[in-house]
Amino acid sequence: RNLVIAVDGPAGAGKSTIAKIIANRLNINYIDTGAMYRAITYKCLKNNIDINNEEEVVKLAKDTDIDFRDNNIYIDGNILKEEIRTMEVSNNVSNVAKIKEVRYLMVDVQREIGKRNSVILDGRDIGSYVFPNADYKFYLVATPEERGQRRFKELKEKGYETTLEEIIKDIIKRDEIDSNREFAPLVKADDAIEIDTTGKTIDDVVESVISKINL
Ligand code: C5P
Repeated sequence: RNLVIAVDGPAGAGKSTIAKIIANRLNINYIDTGAMYRAITYKCLKNNIDINNEEEVVKLAKDTDIDFRDNNIYIDGNILKEEIRTMEVSNNVSNVAKIKEVRYLMVDVQREIGKRNSVILDGRDIGSYVFPNADYKFYLVATPEERGQRRFKELKEKGYETTLEEIIKDIIKRDEIDSNREFAPLVKADDAIEIDTTGKTIDDVVESVISKINL
């Protein structure tokens, strides 16, 4: 039987860092579902599609082949890496992710992967909507200041000229759109284990998660 582990929470709570390590420890697949919404956003921006034109965005999403191999995302056969982590993509992705038809397409891919493999997925709606019967559900949170600091550090390393204040404002905005969208919003599943990662090391959080998993 396949194991499915859901890791949800707001932006910058540490989901992907933790999920990747857990995937390695348990030797299961890791799916970054945010990368799928980022990939569609990236392709829209590249093709000059207006993000607010839902019809056009849905058409593009339907014409896009998304695939994961060795925990990497491929779009129409090409691997995507840092190009989906730019501020431009981050600042537009929530408006793409709020489109119901886009979500249907992405969720189909996620469920298909979970049907065939043991997998840990990180996202916003994995425990609440995509896999309501997941074996384990975690919901990671941290203060906006801490989440902003983490993103700020990453972006600085990539050479962005930005301020901590701007980054905190951006992630709060993104959380707000993600939490308030009509379909499959960001929400803690009733049966998810909440972990506050504020002030904790990566090792601390990994241990809290691992300690809940009985294999
Ligand atoms: O996790 P990450 O920050 O890369 O996600 C980018 C965006 O993708 C989120 O802000 C959200 O709008 C969207 N997303 C989503 N559902 C998921 C994963 C991500 O709506 N399961």
